[in-house]
Amino acid sequence: MENLTVLALAIAVCLALCNASPLMTSPDDRQIAEDYLAQFYKDPDVTQPNGRSLDLPNFEKDLKGMQEFFGLEVTGKLDTNTLEVMKQPRCGVSDVARYVHFNGKPRWKQSVVTYRITQYTLKLRKSEVDATIAKAFKLYSDVIPLDFKQIYSGTADIMILFKARNHGDSKPFDGPGQVLAHANPPGPKKGGDTHFDEDEKWTLSSQGINLFLVAAHEFGHALGLDHSEDRSALMFKNYQYVNTNGYKLPEDDRLGIQALYGVRGSTDKPKPKPEPKPEPCNPDLVFDAATSIWGDLYFFKNGYYWKKGYYSGLSQHKISSLWPSIDSVDAAYTAKDKKTAFLFKGQQYWGVRDGKILPGYPKPISSIGFPSYVKKIDAAVYVAYTDETLFFVGSKYWSYNGRTGKLGLSKRIQDNFPGIGSRVDAAFENGGYMYFSNGAQQFEYDFRAKRVNRVLKNYAWLNCY
Ligand SMILES: [Zn+2]
Ligand SMILES: [Zn+2]
Repeated sequence: MENLTVLALAIAVCLALCNASPLMTSPDDRQIAEDYLAQFYKDPDVTQPNGRSLDLPNFEKDLKGMQEFFGLEVTGKLDTNTLEVMKQPRCGVSDVARYVHFNGKPRWKQSVVTYRITQYTLKLRKSEVDATIAKAFKLYSDVIPLDFKQIYSGTADIMILFKARNHGDSKPFDGPGQVLAHANPPGPKKGGDTHFDEDEKWTLSSQGINLFLVAAHEFGHALGLDHSEDRSALMFKNYQYVNTNGYKLPEDDRLGIQALYGVRGSTDKPKPKPEPKPEPCNPDLVFDAATSIWGDLYFFKNGYYWKKGYYSGLSQHKISSLWPSIDSVDAAYTAKDKKTAFLFKGQQYWGVRDGKILPGYPKPISSIGFPSYVKKIDAAVYVAYTDETLFFVGSKYWSYNGRTGKLGLSKRIQDNFPGIGSRVDAAFENGGYMYFSNGAQQFEYDFRAKRVNRVLKNYAWLNCY
């Protein structure tokens, strides 16, 4: 019996040590790192020409180069932050956004963009070309709040033509093959204009050159997307036939275009069942989100929010009665100015101020830098003490630095916020303290001292005793 206790203690000590020391890694981790460095990271600059660093083992040398490249602490040791970076691309390359915008991120500012086809191809019927071009634009209007309208006279935003060789710009086409088409980035005059090489065999099938796929790619340019390195992306440089039946914009392109224009409102999605109006004085009350806007506290729950003001007291409202297109909120934080709040729902978020939704919202959370496997944010809070915003997702959190505009690597909640548990449902700042809710419980946390001051119940905020 006693021996068992000692053994259990020994295991407990080992686990504690393993967790405490970021340098202790398993043989599996070492193998992952070696494979990673061999496959993804061989920087020739790391080897000094004068041989100064040749005495270092290759592994440590490669590792240092990789750490420097990713802006990690250059230790030459396999620590947990380094391992996390290494494991990211191996979880699936599609988790890493590869889309690229043009310099200066040009985009159309109006909500309706017009196009006109001034010269048609002779290889297809006019009605077929009209329908195909409309279908290519629809790939984009399905996912961003932009509409496209064909006009038949005058100057359109996007002027389209089919012509061989010289066609009035400085980029003559090259006969059959090679360059198939080109398009300008968004902008005035020739901005967005799209030209197709009439020497190509334009078709609507897998034979010849499929007009729908090429037009969809060129309109990506005309809307602000440059080439992507993602081979499965529409904006990948090379033409490649894929089945066009039921074709939707690939994920990389969708995230790229939504980062420029925002996400199309979900008007045609089935409406979720209305959730019951939450009761305030329930000891088991769990908040969806909480934040403090201009001195008033907002607690979100099931499509409703309680507003608690120092002078105005407590009131309950439907979220959509204040911000019409927002039906519920997963996470919320208020910016440094204490007036602009950001409300998160699934993979999108809205900026709101003075009871209005700011223009350009909703935006995808990928525009903040979240990988696509993050499907929702549990909680968010701006920390004035460090000028950072914390985002909680499952047992991890990310910190966003407003000055650099960068999202850091994810960390474990338990490692840096001792005592608040392994997840956070809602977080806000009030009177110099942070409040982290985990289920019905809430922790008043002293950020400077890094410790929990006292444990509360969520419902204590709602005048329930
Ligand atoms: Zn041209
Ligand atoms: Zn292209």
